[in-house]
Amino acid sequence: MDDLKFGTRNKRGDWAPNQPAETAPLFAFPPRLMAILKWLPHYFFPWNALFAASSVAYWAWVIPPVETMKTFGIGWVAWLYAVNAICVLLFYGAFELHLYVLKRQEKRFKYNGKFPSEQKSKAFWFESQNIDNILRTFLSGVTIWTAIEAAMLWTYANGYAPWLSFAEHPWTLAIVALTVPVIHEFHFFCIHRLIHTPILYKWVHSVHHNSVNPSPWSSLSMHPVEHLLYLGTAFYHLILPSNPILMLYQLHYAGFGAIPGHVGFDKVEIGAEKLVDSHAYAHYLHHKYFEVNYGDALIPLDKWFGTWHDGSPEGEARMQERYIRRKEKLAARRAGMEVKGATE
Ligand SMILES: [Zn+2]
Ligand SMILES: [Zn+2]
Repeated sequence: MDDLKFGTRNKRGDWAPNQPAETAPLFAFPPRLMAILKWLPHYFFPWNALFAASSVAYWAWVIPPVETMKTFGIGWVAWLYAVNAICVLLFYGAFELHLYVLKRQEKRFKYNGKFPSEQKSKAFWFESQNIDNILRTFLSGVTIWTAIEAAMLWTYANGYAPWLSFAEHPWTLAIVALTVPVIHEFHFFCIHRLIHTPILYKWVHSVHHNSVNPSPWSSLSMHPVEHLLYLGTAFYHLILPSNPILMLYQLHYAGFGAIPGHVGFDKVEIGAEKLVDSHAYAHYLHHKYFEVNYGDALIPLDKWFGTWHDGSPEGEARMQERYIRRKEKLAARRAGMEVKGATE
């Protein structure tokens, strides 16, 4: 597959798509009906359908009987941890193996011309991005994921969260299911913006940003506080009229859904002909430039707040202009303080 039909590669070997990143047309005004119809299949396939299917499979084969979950027990919680860990290992590992270990598509469609294994950095445990990322994923990522999952299931089992049945409320639950990605986007944007405030960035979010060149294992490589905030998206189902399967979908959307944004490749080649879009470009730019694209572009929140970068020269100019304005503001504030200090 010739990736130069779809983009360009610079001298450093970094590939960029010709097509700038786009926000979903869902919230465009005036409404763009044709654009929405064209975009709609991407809303379901392949990613969202996969995470919805995995939550149904969990409910069918993994989640213990409701009677068991009425009381916390080390047995069923440990079982959930084990299944989550195995699923993360298989799902994340599949991308890692395909793209980073066997390098089946070499550097085709790869945003950053280097593989993380080629660069050692003191920012990481054992100076290795992969070891650091894998340890953080399993030590705190899957642990906090499982703790939230178990707490929510216990809540449902004891009747403390609104549990609608699919048989009696199919339409309400269909709407909630369709809203799951929107809830995620809203929640992610808010907590992400919060942890980019200077103190929280330094203590919490910088861990995730150590991976300037993200790879599959970077997806859940976070500080435990960020894990709690990020995966806490499941708690919306404490007040939403919902169902444990949709709560699991919300959790899988965050846990497994972190992968597409960090895969590091714009398209994943399946066989010789087929390409699957990762939709990772917006979040790749976030890892590259830090202060753009706090959301994943399902809701155009970054456009509304002026932090959108689509990868185009215009996007770049907008970002630079914002940085200059901020610098001027800071300089003016500093000058004001100095004048005030001198007159006191
Ligand atoms: Zn990230
Ligand atoms: Zn960030």
